[in-house]
Amino acid sequence: MGRIFNFSAGPAMLPEEVLKEAADEMLDYRGTGMSVMEMSHRSKAYEAIIQEAEKDLRELMNIPDNYKVLFLQGGASQQFAMIPLNLMKNKVADYIITGQWAKKAYKEASIYGKANVIASSEDKTFSYIPDCSDLPISEDADYVYICENNTIYGTKFKTLPNTKGKTLVADISSCFLSEPVDVSKYGILYGGVQKNIGPAGVVIVIIREDLITEDTLPGTPTMLKYKIHADNQSLYNTPPAYGIYICGKVFQWIKRMGGLEAMKVRNEKKAAILYDFLDQSKLFKGTVEKKDRSLMNVPFITGNTELDAKFVKEAKEAGLENLKGHRTVGGMRASIYNAMPIEGVQKLVEFMKEFEAKNL
Ligand SMILES: *Cc1c(COP(=O)(O)O)cnc(C)c1O
Repeated sequence: MGRIFNFSAGPAMLPEEVLKEAADEMLDYRGTGMSVMEMSHRSKAYEAIIQEAEKDLRELMNIPDNYKVLFLQGGASQQFAMIPLNLMKNKVADYIITGQWAKKAYKEASIYGKANVIASSEDKTFSYIPDCSDLPISEDADYVYICENNTIYGTKFKTLPNTKGKTLVADISSCFLSEPVDVSKYGILYGGVQKNIGPAGVVIVIIREDLITEDTLPGTPTMLKYKIHADNQSLYNTPPAYGIYICGKVFQWIKRMGGLEAMKVRNEKKAAILYDFLDQSKLFKGTVEKKDRSLMNVPFITGNTELDAKFVKEAKEAGLENLKGHRTVGGMRASIYNAMPIEGVQKLVEFMKEFEAKNL
C-alpha cells in the first residue's frame, strides 16, 4: 500500500521529500558513518544541524535579533507551566479562552498566580473568536495569553487582541509557519512541532530577550527556566536531536516552496476548496463562524452521528484517513497543514460530493 492522505490534527503529515531525504541519510549522515540519532549533540556535525535550523527559521519568520529561538522538550503542554513560572512577576495574567488548549494553559497558570479569564467563546462551544479590541486587561497583568489557532474547534485569531501595552503570549502550535507573522507583536510565540513542522518531541519557543531573566517564581526547576536554555543555545542538556534535524529539513522545504508568503497562498487555496464546498453542500456544514475560520483545521458535520461515523469509515477505505473530529466535539475534522498536498483536499471534496449524492 502506498501513502495515504492523512488528515490527522497531529502528529500530522510531513513533506514526502523530507522523509525521503531523512531515509537517505539514515545510516550515514553525510559521511559521518552514523545516523543523526546516534550522534553526540556536542559534535561539530550536530552543531551545524541545530545552528542551520535556527538560521533558517529566523529567515523564514523574519525573527528580530532581540528574540531568542529555543528548541525544547515537554511539548506545548509544558509551556503552560513554563510561561507563568518565568513571566508571572506580579503573579497576574490575563487569558482569552477560545478552546481547550487555552483553557488548559489557564488552569495551569492558576496554580502559580491569579489567572483571569478576560474573554471566552465557551458560550457557543468555542465556535467563534470573541471581540478582543477593548478587553478589561488587568492593570498589573504580566502578560495576555492566547491560543492563536484552535486546533480542535477550527477557529483562528485574524487580528491579534489589543493587549493595551501588555506582553502578548501565543500558542501557535497548529498555525506555525502557515503564513507570515510579525514576531515583534509578541513577547513569546511557541508551539509543539508535531502539527505543522516535524516529529513530536520538540517545542519551539521564540521569546523576546527582556523576558528571559533569573527572576523566576521560587521553586522553578532548572529545566523550566528559559534563561538556562537561552544561555546554552538549547544545548543545556541533550536536546531532542533527531526531531530538530527533521524540523531543519522542513524549514528548508518551506524555503524551497517560496517561504511563508507562498505557504499562505497555498494554504488559502487548499482551505477555499473545502470551505467553498461546505458552503454549498446540502449534507455537510462547517461548524464555526465564517470570519474566524482556520486555514489549518476544518471541522464539519452532517448533523447525524451515524452518518458521520459512516463517512469517516468510508473515507478511510478511500485512502482519506483520520477525519474523525476530536473526541470532545464529534463530527469530522480535516487538518490540512502545510504538508497536505492540494490533491489531498481535492480528493476529499470529490469524496464528499459522492457521499452526499448517495446519502442525501
Ligand atoms: C496539540 C496542541 C497542544 C498540545 O501539544 P502537546 O505537544 O501534545 O503538549 C497545545 N496547543 C495547541 C494549539 C495544540 O494544537
